[in-house]
Amino acid sequence: NDGSETFKYESDITRLRSLVIHSLYSHKDVFLRELLSNANDALEKLRLTALTDRSVLSSGEGNVTIEVNVDERSNGKTGQIIIRDTGIGMSKDELARNLGTIARSGTSEFLKKAEEGQGVDGNLIGQFGLGFYSCFLVSPTVRVSSLPPATTNNPNPEQYTFVSSSTGDSFEVFLDPRGKTLGRGTEIVLTIGEDEAEFLSVDHLKSLIEKHSTFSTTFPIYIKERNISKVPTPHPQSPVEDGDPDEFADDLETDETTPKEENFDEQVEENWIRVNDKAPIWMREPKEVSDEEYQQFYKAVAKDDASESLGWSHFKGDTGSGVSFRAIMYIPSSLPKDFWQKMTSGINNVRLMVKRVFITDDLGEDFMPRWLSFLKVTVDADDLPLNVSRETLQNNRFLSQLQRILVRKALDLFTKLSVDQPEKYKEIAKLYGNALRIGLLESPKDKLKLAKLLRFESTRSDYTSLEEYVENRKEGQKQIYYIAGVGEIAKDLARSPFVEKLFARGYEVLLLNLPSDEPMMASLDQFMGMTTQDVSKKGLKFGDEDEDGAEKKELEAQKVAFKPLIEWLKKDLAGQISDVTVTNRLVTSPCTIIVDSYGWSANMQRIMSAQTD
Ligand code: ADP
Ligand code: MG
Repeated sequence: NDGSETFKYESDITRLRSLVIHSLYSHKDVFLRELLSNANDALEKLRLTALTDRSVLSSGEGNVTIEVNVDERSNGKTGQIIIRDTGIGMSKDELARNLGTIARSGTSEFLKKAEEGQGVDGNLIGQFGLGFYSCFLVSPTVRVSSLPPATTNNPNPEQYTFVSSSTGDSFEVFLDPRGKTLGRGTEIVLTIGEDEAEFLSVDHLKSLIEKHSTFSTTFPIYIKERNISKVPTPHPQSPVEDGDPDEFADDLETDETTPKEENFDEQVEENWIRVNDKAPIWMREPKEVSDEEYQQFYKAVAKDDASESLGWSHFKGDTGSGVSFRAIMYIPSSLPKDFWQKMTSGINNVRLMVKRVFITDDLGEDFMPRWLSFLKVTVDADDLPLNVSRETLQNNRFLSQLQRILVRKALDLFTKLSVDQPEKYKEIAKLYGNALRIGLLESPKDKLKLAKLLRFESTRSDYTSLEEYVENRKEGQKQIYYIAGVGEIAKDLARSPFVEKLFARGYEVLLLNLPSDEPMMASLDQFMGMTTQDVSKKGLKFGDEDEDGAEKKELEAQKVAFKPLIEWLKKDLAGQISDVTVTNRLVTSPCTIIVDSYGWSANMQRIMSAQTD
């Protein structure tokens, strides 16, 4: 009895596995990225464990490395890819549990998405914790052997092996008959099918690693290269002299009778070559990093190969309490679908490292202000103690100082893009406009900077800033006019009776249709010496009104003429309205209902009642 035990995959797993295999049929190469990312995680776990229990490092090798080895078996047989890490490993139970069952959040969500046919791509499986199953894309049978480190609690761990094929609904786990062949960690052996023979090329694997994994791990990745060189065989009849190789070549050319093959031996030289030997991108000087490298790193941090960042900032900083750091901050190309419902999606968007070693990507929900929680940030600090726990981190002044710097850098980044790359900024203003407006509401001291970053539609332009609005104001105009209607089309807002008179007089009116617009404008109150004015509210003033001119006289005369009607309306509508007045605001509409300056506009009432539904 070799202790072999056969397990049934959980029914969900069987479904998931075949789903992954089918939907990723044309993206087979993701398997390598996923397995290397698991190796990276295992090494990070080992390093974290070692902070509290040094003994884990003394078991097996002290090295923390990832190795990729291709065994081509050229003589017609199937080849293998062997991926080894010296990470935390898995016990027998863990092999069965981690590779064969799921109790992961998000899995059912994944199934739903996939079965609804919403693009299941290579990026989804990584995000949903299904990476391991991608090895079945290239390998009909997979063998995983693993040996956890010896610890105080478990001084003598055993090496176990997990075997599964891509079809069928069961897998086996048994004590490895080879004994403890691994010093520590995990070995994954993929049997490469004939159709996937391209993956048996070292050069191909190297380019895949360079493309997908150079940035996602700081642990060294080695690949075994075989150089087959032909060396001349010393020939008894025509001894080759040491020295000038040209002379030797001349000999060959002239000696046409010599069968050349017989004069050479094949020599195989094996070398472990480090693939990811560049310094991590954030440690390099910004001027030495190309845009393409920044975009590649973005794809790695965003776990999204298909999109590009809209802008980034790479900087050094000093928190003032003596901790210096380097950071790269990215504006993603899209917001997560549920961003506005959750607004906590920022949780895993700030990765904190200390001296190149990953510490955490969970700095807490409110580490970044929620309106900036979409930014993807990598921070590498120099002087924090390596074993900082989350609790000590949260009490650490470093974090609050870091947060302040990141917010300032983000505002600088948006500002810079708005000036240097106006076309790109259009996209940003559209995607993140609502977030910036909420920023203005929640971060009073950054009001002015944020106000300058906002873009609006207006009666004059379909893309304008407040600064432009102020530049284009009419002489004497002291108010920034706006009308708000959530979800309405700007063109429809422009037809409102409130807007028509202003427009007829040549004033520009901002047409606001985002939910955050109206509270934002009310909170902004002032911009470059002008006050903001909802044109549907009391308090509207025309800049060109000439107080005792003809217009005023006409209004006074009309007030007298309409007095009986006004009195009657006030009586008739008593209790439902607060006032009835004669106005010169309207052009074609005979009358309109307006809101007191401090009351809620009709738009705001709609928002508030929607929220209490
Ligand atoms: P995820 O990495 O998102 O958790 P995976 O399907 O990629 O999902 O891996 C499943 C689990 O298997 C991991 O969470 C980990 O516990 C375990 N695992 C996979 N590969 C390794 C490895 N090389 N070393 C240790 N544990 C591993
Ligand atoms: Mg994984």
